[in-house]
Amino acid sequence: MKSFEFIAPRTLDQVVELLPGPRDLKARDRVKLLAGGQDLLGELKEYLVAPEQVLNLKTVPGLSTFAERDSNYEVGALVTLAELEQSATLRRTHAMVAEAAGAVGSVQIRNQGTVGGNLCQRPRCWYYRHEQAVCIKKGGSECFAYGGLNKYNAILGGGPSYIVHPSDLAPALVAAGASATIRSKKGERTVELERFFTLPSEGAVTRENVLAPDEVLVRVDIPAMAGWTSTYMKFRERSSYDFALAAVALALRMEGGRIAEARLVLGGVAPIPWRCEKAEKALVGRKVDAKICALAGKLALEGAEPLAHNAYKLPLAQGLITKALRKLAGT
Ligand SMILES: Cc1cc2nc3c(=O)[nH]c(=O)nc-3n(C[C@H](O)[C@H](O)[C@H](O)COP(=O)(O)OP(=O)(O)OC[C@H]3O[C@@H](n4cnc5c(N)ncnc54)[C@H](O)[C@@H]3O)c2cc1C
Repeated sequence: MKSFEFIAPRTLDQVVELLPGPRDLKARDRVKLLAGGQDLLGELKEYLVAPEQVLNLKTVPGLSTFAERDSNYEVGALVTLAELEQSATLRRTHAMVAEAAGAVGSVQIRNQGTVGGNLCQRPRCWYYRHEQAVCIKKGGSECFAYGGLNKYNAILGGGPSYIVHPSDLAPALVAAGASATIRSKKGERTVELERFFTLPSEGAVTRENVLAPDEVLVRVDIPAMAGWTSTYMKFRERSSYDFALAAVALALRMEGGRIAEARLVLGGVAPIPWRCEKAEKALVGRKVDAKICALAGKLALEGAEPLAHNAYKLPLAQGLITKALRKLAGT
């Protein structure tokens, strides 16, 4: 690890004062933000980033607020995954968010890991994580996973990079219609979480979200979902702790045994949480039976382009969709 200056800012104003300019892309990795540190420390130790300064967000007051009002939640960037997982009210009103938090890593990771860190963590693709592999994510010209070992990579939305977004929380928060509040020297802006994440073909291929170099994520707001039920289902290789090979965040509003509204977002299959609007529309007005489960699975994975070693993700994600639909419909 290269040595760096460790700074403990006392206010958010101090944090944004120390960040580079909004268009200073070259300086973006000169200053890094530290939350729980579980992803950042790995990156530092592997020489994936070599910042001059590390700003400890944990000394900044006001980022750990976890407040509920009429089933609307304000979740500060430093709220831990364990707090979400263990919240009885969140479990009742937004089960998929609490379940997704509870599906992250191990108990230790959830005790230390934060909401902001989970949403802003970097990809887990082993080419990206290898110090000597200068892949397209690190400014190189090629995605080595595309023609290489791509068992864990994207089947949807890939190109020119084929990473999958590693966050469990992200699909559930997108399905919940959550928004992110972002702070810079210019003030605050709010972005729907669905628009927070960017495809490699849309934004800068070296980033996974809309945060500019001068910005910090300060909070996530989750709106009430009266009348909805929801669940998060994840399949991983190791049951003790592991990233998702595929995951499903599903929310349904039922009326008279039929689906009145649906939200379906996939994790582990694309560089962003993958919203399946066609499948959501097809579910409306239907009872949950084998036919609609198969149709929802087919529409959700429409356009999938598996690489040489990851076609298994198609039936895996489709199986999880069926399981989640049946669980929520009680069939
Ligand atoms: C063994 C292991 C298993 C894991 N398993 C899972 C898993 O199953 N599912 C999963 O989702 N994740 C997993 N993770 C990834 C990750 O460590 C956790 O998700 C954790 O939530 C990260 O949070 P943190 O606060 O420790 O992040 P940090 O390491 O502090 O930060 C992560 C990144 O986000 C940036 N950042 C942090 N806060 C902010 C902010 N407020 N604004 C802007 N940028 C910010 C940091 O600069 C850094 O680049 C795992 C990690 C490990 C080491």
